[in-house]
Amino acid sequence: MQVRTRFAPSPTGFMHLGGVRTALYAYLFAKQNQGRFILRIEDTDQERFVEGATEVIYDTLRACGLNWDEGPDIGGPCGPYIQSERKATYLPYAKQLVESGHAYYCFCSKEELDDRRAKVEAAGGTWKYDKHCLRLSKEEVQAKLDAGIPWTIRMNAPTEGETSYHDTVFGDMTFQNAESMDDMVLIKQDGMPTYNFANVIDDHLMGITHVMRGMEYLSSTPRYNYLYTALGWEIPTYIHLPTVMRDATHKLSKRSGDAYYSDYMEKGYLTEALINYLALVGWNPGTDQEFFSLPELVEAFDVTRINKAPGIFDVNKLTWFNAEYIRRMDKEKYLELVTPWFDKVLAGKGIDYPRLAELMQERTEIFSQVPDMVAFLAELPDYDIELYTHKKMKTDAAVSRANLELIRPVLESIDNWTEQEIHDRVIDAIAAAGLKNGAVLWPLRIAISGQASTPGGAFEIAWLLGKAETLRRVDDGLSRLS
Ligand code: GLU
Repeated sequence: MQVRTRFAPSPTGFMHLGGVRTALYAYLFAKQNQGRFILRIEDTDQERFVEGATEVIYDTLRACGLNWDEGPDIGGPCGPYIQSERKATYLPYAKQLVESGHAYYCFCSKEELDDRRAKVEAAGGTWKYDKHCLRLSKEEVQAKLDAGIPWTIRMNAPTEGETSYHDTVFGDMTFQNAESMDDMVLIKQDGMPTYNFANVIDDHLMGITHVMRGMEYLSSTPRYNYLYTALGWEIPTYIHLPTVMRDATHKLSKRSGDAYYSDYMEKGYLTEALINYLALVGWNPGTDQEFFSLPELVEAFDVTRINKAPGIFDVNKLTWFNAEYIRRMDKEKYLELVTPWFDKVLAGKGIDYPRLAELMQERTEIFSQVPDMVAFLAELPDYDIELYTHKKMKTDAAVSRANLELIRPVLESIDNWTEQEIHDRVIDAIAAAGLKNGAVLWPLRIAISGQASTPGGAFEIAWLLGKAETLRRVDDGLSRLS
């Protein structure tokens, strides 16, 4: 048997991290079993249609390296892979279910349904379709169909008994039919299947062997099994996945800006780091290994090690992973990735990016922090002269002023403005004056950067700024200190 998994997103315009992780696990499981990973777009809910939403899905999966073997854009033996393009596929199966008594035509109008629902709810009950149209005889149904009365097809759900099934992650599950099932619509008035129906039909027709999806579907699964059984089809293996949460009580949310893949890209996280970390949210390799490339994940992944408990997505841990990935990246790659972030504040300022990148790589955790960290090179920020006071360097405002005055002419006399030359001349001058390095270099760094923490020290910054700007900033410091 060839393993076939699928990722079956509804195009909402965003890729939730939980969805990315579902896709990742489905991909890993297929690949480690030499199987196929299928992408299917579940868009039968046309009211929710969002322009460009399928592109978001394609782009995200591609960026993550989760390439599908069959899917809407590349086709495959079970196409089309977009449900709205398969509209004609579903009705015959619904009719078959009507024939066998597992489904029936319903002619209730929206008004009638609303009316009956309101009555039930007013009496304190919970509304469920009341099987009103199940009573219609074959002839009555035909007459209504002939008269062109709008119809839907509903599942004839059992009202008693229970349904049990085995889930790979959650174990043996049992649900009371009366609670977990209702006479859900299979075919809507517009002829489109509902999501619940199309999902079952397509998983079967596409030969899906292992259904991996969020645990919110655990309680819907009895309905799906009812349909599989009614159609005489084999039920796939279920692998439901724990929810991805921010912490024990909070979901990732659109409002807090931490739910979508795009949120993390905008903040300058690396896809590789995100995928690496996401893989570990809900699964553990059973070893100390933390860093995994996608091929390594394919090797190491083990569905029996997926946790039942919600996966906590800790953004600090992600940031830690991200910083590690950046540190391990080669210089050229880092320069390429950091350039647009430098450009946000340094474009046209004549700053040497390759050198700045060298100084920044070790300190970068996420790229969105970069502009703030380098903006001082474009413009000296306003700063508090308290910064000149440093216990360990034995500096205060007065010492700083004296030492900046001492070093200014030295800087001015340097014609060959290289880091090495600046270093040598300044160090010589400090030694000649019998001072400690820190007592000069600290004030110099403050004067030319306006901040206590900088990528590189005084020499590197002075070089990046150039001689004229360095002197201008030293003068500015001197006037602040006078
Ligand atoms: N279309 C469903 C969703 O986006 C997929 C559910 C499933 O994988 O069965 O949540």
